[in-house]
Order: sequence, then structure tokens, then C-alpha cells
Amino acid sequence: MATRIDFKYVRQHADIARVIAHFGIDLHQDGSKPEQMKGLCPFHEDTKPSLKVNTERNIFNCFACKAKGNVLDFVNVPPCQ
Ligand SMILES: [Zn+2]
Repeated sequence: MATRIDFKYVRQHADIARVIAHFGIDLHQDGSKPEQMKGLCPFHEDTKPSLKVNTERNIFNCFACKAKGNVLDFVNVPPCQ
């Protein structure tokens, strides 16, 4: 019997900050809210941190290239052309 992955569980419980760190991206606190982080976006040629991460809602979005989504989307976003 094949092992089934509960994607809903992963989406809600995988720590997005740890997943992003796994890809070698440094996150820093953004502003005064501890759940708001920012870092260099891996989806476009980023020189200043455009990637915003909300560790409470487990979502990310990049205001430069518009990549956004949840923790599963992060590992699935195709690279920008
Ligand atoms: Zn981006």
C-alpha cells in the first residue's frame, strides 16, 4: 500500500521559515511584527529583499515578481523566465 501524504496537514504544519531556510535563503525580521520576515526572492533575480514571509499564516509573497502562495507552492513555483 502506497504511503499517502496529507497535503493539507503539511500545508498547515510545515514551518515555512524552515522550508525557505532549507533552500539557503536567509530570512530577517521585517518591521516590528515577529511573524513578518523578508529575504531574497529565489524566483527572480533579487538584489534587495523582496520576498515577504508571514510565519503565522505560513504564506509568502514577492512584491517584485508576484510569486506567492503557501508552503507547498514555495517548492512548486516554476522559475520566472
Ligand atoms: Zn520575486
